[in-house]
Order: sequence, then structure tokens, then C-alpha cells
Amino acid sequence: MNKRIKQKLNSATQIQRLLLEPFLFEGMTAVDCTAGNGNDTLFLAEKAGAEGKVYGFDIQASAIEATRARLESSKHVACDITLILKGHEHLSEEISEAVDVIVYNLGYLPRHDKSITTMTPSTLESVKQAMDLIKQGGIITITAYPGHSEGERESDALVNFLKTIDQSKFNISKSEFINQANTPPVLFIIEKR
Ligand code: SAM
Repeated sequence: MNKRIKQKLNSATQIQRLLLEPFLFEGMTAVDCTAGNGNDTLFLAEKAGAEGKVYGFDIQASAIEATRARLESSKHVACDITLILKGHEHLSEEISEAVDVIVYNLGYLPRHDKSITTMTPSTLESVKQAMDLIKQGGIITITAYPGHSEGERESDALVNFLKTIDQSKFNISKSEFINQANTPPVLFIIEKR
């Protein structure tokens, strides 16, 4: 095995983090649009450093509390954090500054109520707002789960919307595993040019 490679590329979230890495910096402003258990919010907050700012959205109070607890348990979080108990379709109402990084991990919280899931219309609305808020050179990543019915609708709607976007304004790609069982997650990457 190549000793320099420390990571296996077997999950969309791992690939998402590898892709995000060069876009993250101390002092950045980042948004986690689906805070859930706080794993992605924590990842962004640790990278943002003392001068940075991180926002987290979720519609479940328990998710916001879990995220808060996760952030408080880390010794490496020094940035300004705002957790918002609202849907990410309210992104532009809540955030008026331009943002460097925006992350979505769609669907429902594993091992929780599957009926509380991101929904196609609000996801599309939010992604449109995110594309307005993101700075030039900034990145939006979206992990979507077409293995469940709403996730499939969401992924299809994202493809149909994102493929209409002017390539002189955004670089947009979709990454998917083609040899994994059970309809694996897909990763959308949107870079503002
Ligand atoms: N990123 C999370 C983590 O690191 O633990 C996992 C996110 S989980 C797959 C999806 C989350 O999206 C759930 O916590 C759910 O409550 C939340 N959600 C559903 N609809 C939402 C909406 N309109 N706006 C924001 N969050 C939403």
C-alpha cells in the first residue's frame, strides 16, 4: 500500500472533506446547512480558527443541541458560532455577509426519525440562495442520498437545476460511486468562478 495515502475513498463524505480541504482557511466564514449531530459544523469550526465564523442550520431542536454539545466538547473550536433553529431555505434572511464555504449533507439523521428529512423544494430554494451568498472562489458541497425516495427526487432536481447554470459563472460537478451496492450517495461540487 502507498504509505503516503492515509484515506480510503469509499464514502461521499470523505471525498467531500478532501475536496473541501484546499478551500478552508483560518478566518473563513462557513455555513453548515444541515447541522444534524454537528460533525460537519465541528469540522468547519476547527478549520475556521479564532478569526473565523461558522453558521449552522437545522430544523430539529435536538440537532441544534447535539451540535452545540459537540462544539463545546472540542478544545479546537475558537471561532464565532451561530446555530439557527430554522430551515436552510431561510439562509439569505439569516446571513447577509458573503460566505467562503457552504456544506449540505442532505436527508435524515441516521438512526433518527426518517420522516424528518430535507425536501426537494426547500433544498432547491436554499441552494439558489447559497449560490448568491458564496464568494468568488468559494465552494458549496452537497451530499445527497438517492437511496430513499425523497433523496432520489432531490438528487434528480439538483441535477436538473445545476446543469442549467452558466459555466462561465460556476464550475459544477457530480461525483458518484459506480460500483457500490444499494444506491450510494452522490456529491455535488459547486465552485464560484
Ligand atoms: N451534517 C450532519 C452531521 O454532521 O451530523 C448530518 C446531517 S443529516 C444527514 C440531515 C439533517 O438535515 C437532519 O438533522 C435534519 O433535521 C436536517 N434538515 C432537514 N430539513 C432541513 C432544512 N430544511 N433545513 C435545515 N436542516 C434540515
